[in-house]
Amino acid sequence: MSKLTVVVPAFNEAAVLEAFHERLARVFDDMPLDCRVLYVDDGSSDRTWDIMASLTTRDPRAEAIKLSRNFGKEAAMTAGLDAVDADAVVVIDADLQDPPELIPSLVEQWHAGFDVVYATRSAREGETGLKKFTSAAFYRSMEKISQTPVPRDTGDFRLLSRRAVDALRQLRERQRFMKGLFAWIGYRQTAVYYLREPRAAGTTKWNYWRLTQLAIEGITSFSTAPLRLATWTGVGASVLAFLYGIWVLVKAMIYGDPVRGYPTLMTVILFLGGVQLLALGVIGEYLGRNYAESKQRPLYFIDEHRRSRG
Ligand code: UDP
Ligand code: MG
Repeated sequence: MSKLTVVVPAFNEAAVLEAFHERLARVFDDMPLDCRVLYVDDGSSDRTWDIMASLTTRDPRAEAIKLSRNFGKEAAMTAGLDAVDADAVVVIDADLQDPPELIPSLVEQWHAGFDVVYATRSAREGETGLKKFTSAAFYRSMEKISQTPVPRDTGDFRLLSRRAVDALRQLRERQRFMKGLFAWIGYRQTAVYYLREPRAAGTTKWNYWRLTQLAIEGITSFSTAPLRLATWTGVGASVLAFLYGIWVLVKAMIYGDPVRGYPTLMTVILFLGGVQLLALGVIGEYLGRNYAESKQRPLYFIDEHRRSRG
């Protein structure tokens, strides 16, 4: 029988974990596969780990890993993917926003020969208009500037075949924009549509600050377009400055040069200064990432690993 493992990264999800496991277990019961679930506690400060540990004693299909601190969802997912040994792996959120009941449809596509089956939301409920707008804008600009198209309205909820997981394991970069990495590995990919529900309980760990960071992560790890933009802005500004310089020179030769021109001087200096700082900032973003990458630190540490004795 082929093996399916569901990887669940969780950070402070004590409020929903039991309900999640119950729903997942019901889905497992109806599937003709050897189903397992691997919970990854991403350094939660609530009872998440206690619940996971107790799930592993109650359900022989459950296994749990505890990371040494909060490393972020991307690292937690990676820890899960590194630890599994299955023919297919499903990554799903613990907060029941991704319905476990969709897993059989993902498996169906896997049986049809696809290596990556991602779940795409056909509607976003319980999210503000602003969040919808910003995420749409992000996907659109990603599509424009990067060579790796990231599927729209797609979270991390997806199924990966064994070879897709093996491929993903080889990508050890620290800047882990998982949606991009999933797309980057290639193979046969397809989508399954579903309705995204509002969180069952607890609160989202994403605020606009973290989302902005994720967006910068996504752009800088999959595109060098901002560097090129900085270059072209620099080129444009120099051309304009050069033309303006000629104009000033000609004017001075024809009309003489009474001491004036403070406003124009100031404008030009400020403009060029601004462009330079912006370009430096962009270079800094990439340089900083290069620095973090060059340290080659591990992506996470495991504190505890519980398998059920069964
Ligand atoms: N998560 C995690 N580590 C973190 C933040 C989140 O493992 O540092 C988990 C979280 O428990 C949940 C999933 O990642 O299972 C998605 O998080 P959340 O629901 O906060 O994000 P959203 O659904 O709003 O995108
Ligand atoms: Mg959520």
